[in-house]
Parts: sequence; structure tokens; C-alpha cells
Amino acid sequence: MSSNPFRAARFATSAPDPSRLPADTGAEIAFAGRSNAGKSSALNAICDQAGLARTSKTPGRTQLLNVFVVDEMRRLVDLPGYGYAKVPEAVREKWRGAIDAYLRERESLRGVVLIMDSRHPLKDFDRQMLAYCREIELACHVLLTKSDKLSRSEAARTLAAVRAECAKQGWTATAQLFSAPSKAGVDEARATLAALLDGDSPQT
Ligand code: GDP
Repeated sequence: MSSNPFRAARFATSAPDPSRLPADTGAEIAFAGRSNAGKSSALNAICDQAGLARTSKTPGRTQLLNVFVVDEMRRLVDLPGYGYAKVPEAVREKWRGAIDAYLRERESLRGVVLIMDSRHPLKDFDRQMLAYCREIELACHVLLTKSDKLSRSEAARTLAAVRAECAKQGWTATAQLFSAPSKAGVDEARATLAALLDGDSPQT
């Protein structure tokens, strides 16, 4: 059985703004995506823990950044789901600024995992995030989730189309298919995350 370092991940803290995050040392990866794209499910599948990411949805604990510690030097950070319905627009505006600052200034940030529903890829938010990552030279790895809802050929076509659009736009992102229930792509995602955290460029 291959060992999964993310199995050790534990919820550490919910930070209302980037200044309340753990010390900016070691390496971390941020998870971003539109609400309902499958971000919590992807985090849970990668960490092989069913309830890990549910904190981000608990009413009253919807803070800006939910931090999961893998080990002393490595963290995963869950950003708020874009379009989260229960948050007033004024709060969302504030979040946007804080998330920009976080992505731009966080020294330990090694990359963004961008979660997209494979049936509805490359929505406005996704495009903005991809362009932003390129602008600030931050690695971005796309998980096309819910691939179990597509036929094998539809899934392959979607992956090829997303990669082609990234190349066309000059976005330096990598992309893969992913399914939380079937675990398709989970090993690939873990390997890419581990490589990013260890300072390597993604290969896929
Ligand atoms: P989040 O809002 O991005 O954190 O999305 P969730 O992880 O809560 O998922 C939203 C819905 O999509 C839930 O009903 C999940 O069970 C479902 N879902 C998430 N990932 C997958 C997947 O890979 N396959 C399928 N079939 N359903 C998924």
C-alpha cells in the first residue's frame, strides 16, 4: 500500500484574515473553487478522511481561511467557496481583497489547487483565478471533479479542452480528472500536491 502523507492532516484553525494564519514558514497549498464544485469532497478524498473539510461549512465557523496541518512544515488551506450563498456581498468583497493579498503575499504558498466541476469547467471565477495565478507566477493545478458523472470519452474530451484553453490563454496550469467517490485521480492529485509542497514543478 502506498503511503499517503495527507492522511496525517488535521484541522488546525479558522483564520478570519491572513494576519491570523499560522507562521509563514514551511510550505502550503491553497484550495479554491466555486461553491459546490466539490472542494470539500476533494480535500477529504486526498486526506482519506470523510469529515475533515466539513468545518468550512459549519454555520458560524465560515471564516476566511481554514487551515489543515499535514506536518510541522506542510499545510493545506481551504479558501471560501466562491459564490457562497449565505455570505452577504459586502463580506464577499472584503474576502476578495483579503484573498488577493493572501495569494500575493504569503511566502510559504507554493500553489493553488483549483477545483472545477468537470461538467461546468472554466467559469468566470476559474478564469480569473487562472489569470491571477499566472500574473503572480503561482503554480496552479486544476482538479476536474465529478468525473464519474461523465462517460470516459466525455471526460477525456473535457480534460483536453481545458488543457487546450490553458495553453491558448498562456495560463501555466496543469490539469487532471478527479472523482471523490470513485477515487479516480486521487493518487495523481496527492503526488502533484506533495511535489508542489516539496518545491518541484508539477509534471502533469
Ligand atoms: P464544495 O462546496 O466545493 O465544498 O462541494 P462539496 O464537496 O460539498 O460537494 C458538493 C456536492 O457535490 C455534494 O453533494 C457532493 O457529494 C458532490 N460531489 C463532490 N465531489 C463529487 C464527485 O467527485 N463525484 C460526485 N458524483 N459527486 C461529488
